[in-house]
Amino acid sequence: MSEEKMDVDSEGLTSTLTKDSEDIEAMKRKYELKRKRLLEEEQRKQKEDLLSSDDDTDVSEMFLSAAQRRKEKAVRRALLKQVLVPTATRANDKEMELKRRKKDDEKKVEDAKKTLLEKHAEKRGIEDEIDPKEKQRQVEEEILENVTANSALMAVAEFAKGIVYTEPFTTGWRPPSHIRHQSESDFAAFRRRRGISVEGQSCPSPIGSFLEMKFPQCLLTALRKKGIKVPTAIQMQGIPVALSGRDMIGIASTGSGKTLTFALPMVMFCLEQEYSLPFQKGEGPYALIIVPSRELARQIYDVVTDLFDAFQGAGLPRLTAALCIGGVPVREQAQEFRSGGIHICVATPGRLSDMLSKKMFNLQICRYLVLDEADRMLDMGFEEEIKSIFSFFKDQRQTLLFSATMPKKIQNFAKSALVKPIVVNVGRAGAASLNVLQEVEYERNEEKLVRIMECLQKTSPKVLIFAERKIDVDNIYEYLLVKGVEVASIHGGKDQSDRHQGIEAFRRGEKDVLVATDVASKGLDFVNIEHVINYDMPEDIENYVHRIGRTGRSGKKGMATTFINRKADLSVMQDLKQLLVEAGQQLPAFLRELADEAEPIENDQGDEKGCAYCSGLGHRITNCPKLAGIQQKTIQTLVRAGGDEGMY
Ligand code: ADP
Ligand code: MG
Repeated sequence: MSEEKMDVDSEGLTSTLTKDSEDIEAMKRKYELKRKRLLEEEQRKQKEDLLSSDDDTDVSEMFLSAAQRRKEKAVRRALLKQVLVPTATRANDKEMELKRRKKDDEKKVEDAKKTLLEKHAEKRGIEDEIDPKEKQRQVEEEILENVTANSALMAVAEFAKGIVYTEPFTTGWRPPSHIRHQSESDFAAFRRRRGISVEGQSCPSPIGSFLEMKFPQCLLTALRKKGIKVPTAIQMQGIPVALSGRDMIGIASTGSGKTLTFALPMVMFCLEQEYSLPFQKGEGPYALIIVPSRELARQIYDVVTDLFDAFQGAGLPRLTAALCIGGVPVREQAQEFRSGGIHICVATPGRLSDMLSKKMFNLQICRYLVLDEADRMLDMGFEEEIKSIFSFFKDQRQTLLFSATMPKKIQNFAKSALVKPIVVNVGRAGAASLNVLQEVEYERNEEKLVRIMECLQKTSPKVLIFAERKIDVDNIYEYLLVKGVEVASIHGGKDQSDRHQGIEAFRRGEKDVLVATDVASKGLDFVNIEHVINYDMPEDIENYVHRIGRTGRSGKKGMATTFINRKADLSVMQDLKQLLVEAGQQLPAFLRELADEAEPIENDQGDEKGCAYCSGLGHRITNCPKLAGIQQKTIQTLVRAGGDEGMY
C-alpha cells in the first residue's frame, strides 16, 4: 500500500470519529500527562533524599567505621543510578539482552555442528589450514562415538553397582620355554608373515603348532583325523590369547577356523575344572557359547562333543555339553541341565534368556563366555536378550567375540565392556574370503528362476542358494523340485524338525541343493559346497560376505554367483563393487559404469577404508544407509512414544 493512499485512508478515518471518542482520547492524554508528572516528582524526591542523606550530620554517623560508611555510600550510589536510569533505556536493555541470548543460542547450535578440530582451529585462528581429510575423519569419529555408547555387554547389576573388572584372568598355561625366550620383534615378524595384526596390552605370543600349544595327544590325534594338522592364522594367535585367560575380539574371514580357536581352550579349561572338582548334578555350565541360529548352535555342539569324546577315549573324565535352543521343548532341555553337571552350554539368545529367567539353570559358575558371530547377533536385534543374559553372571568371566565382519562400532563398545581385550585381526574385518571366485550377473526378476537351472551347471554339487524372502525360497524350492533336482529348503517359517532334517540331508550329501534364507548364512560349515548362488543381493554387504563364505572354507576353493538388477540398493551395489575390487575379482560392465558415476571413495590406510559403522567399502559413515535407517527408526519410536521431537 502506498504512503499516499495510507494518508488518505487515515484522514478518512479521523473524519468519521464521533465526538465521544474525541473526549475519551483527550481524557487519556490528560491522565497520561498526570501520571508522567507524578513519576517525575517521585524520582526527584528519591534523588533529593539520597543526596541529602549523604550530607546528613546524623549523630549515629559518628559511630560508623570508615569501611562501613564506604559500603553504605556504594549502596546508595547504586540505588541512585537505578532510579536515574530512564525507563526507556531499561526496556532497551531488556531487548538487547533478549537479542544477545538469541545470538548466543544460535552460536551454540553452530558450535555443535563444528568438529573439535574446527573449534580448535578457530581458537588458533587457522581455519583455512584444516585438511579436508582430517576434517572428514573428525566428523566420522564424532558420529561413531555417538553411536557406540552402548552397554549391551555389561551385566546390569555390575553396571548399577559400579563393579569394574580391571585385571584379566590368569591361568596356569604358559607357552613353551623356547617361545618365551623369543623377542617381541620375532613375534612381530611371525605375525607379519601370516597377516595377523594385534591390538591391546601385552599380547601373548603367537604359536605355530598345536603341539607347542600343549594340547594333549588325544586331542591332536582327533584333530589330525579330521585333516587338521597345522593351526590357521587366527588359531596361531587366538588360541594362546584364550589359553592365557585374556578377553578377545577375533576377526578372520569365513571358514578360517574360528570355532576351534575358542573351542580348544574351552575344553581344556573344562577338563581342568572337572579334575579339580568334579561337577555334581545341576552344576554348570562353566562355559557358555551364544550364537545367532539354532543350526549353528548344533554344529558347534557337535564340534565340542567330538573333542569331549576324544578325552573320554583316552581315559580322561567324561565331560558334558548341552544345547539351549528354540524349537525344542523347554522341559527336555531343562531336564538335561538338572540330571547332570553341564560343562558347556551352546545357546541361542532367546531360549537362553527365557530359561535363565525361569531359573531352569544359572550362570553362577560360568567363567568362559563366547559370542560367535557377535556382530550379526547384535545386528539381528538380539541386544535386549544379550543384555538380560549378562545380568545372570555372578562374577568376572573371560569374554571372547568372534566374527568375519566386526564393524568398528561393535569393536568399540565391546572394548569398553571387556577387560584389557586383545583384538586379533587376520585380514580386513568385513573382507570376503579370497578363496571364493565371485561372479555378479544382471538378471531381470522373471529370468532368475530359469537362470538358476543354468547356473547349477557351473559346478558339481553341493550348491547353496540364498534368497532374502521366505516366499522366494519356497518358489525356488518348488521350481527345482519340479525340474527333478535333489533339493532341500530351510527358513524361519518352517518347524524345527523340517529345518533339521533338511540341513542334515544336505550335510550328508543326500540332497544336492539347499535353498535358504539368511538363517543359514552365518557360521554354518558344510563340507564341499562348490557354489553359492545369491538369488538376490542382501540388503547388507556383511550378509553377502557371510553368504558367500559358506563356500571356499578351510583353504578350499569355491564359487559364488549373485543376481542383481535395478531393484538392488545403489549403496549396497557400491559396497559390492569395492568388495570385488578388494578381492581382485572381475567387475561386470554395469558395476564398472556405476563406479564412474559414484562419488570418489576416499581410501585411507588400513581399517579406515569404507564405512566405520557397517563393513561397507563403497561409502563412508557420513552417508551410511544402515545408520540412517536406524536413526530414522529411533526418531519414529520417539515420536510415537510422545518423545521430544525438538531434540532432533
Ligand atoms: P569359521 O568359524 O572361521 O567360519 P570354522 O571354524 O567353521 O570357520 O572352520 C571351517 C572349517 O575349517 C571346519 O570344517 C574346520 O574343521 C576346518 N578347520 C579348522 N581349523 C583347521 C585347520 N587348522 N586346518 C584345516 N582345517 C581346519
Ligand atoms: Mg564360525
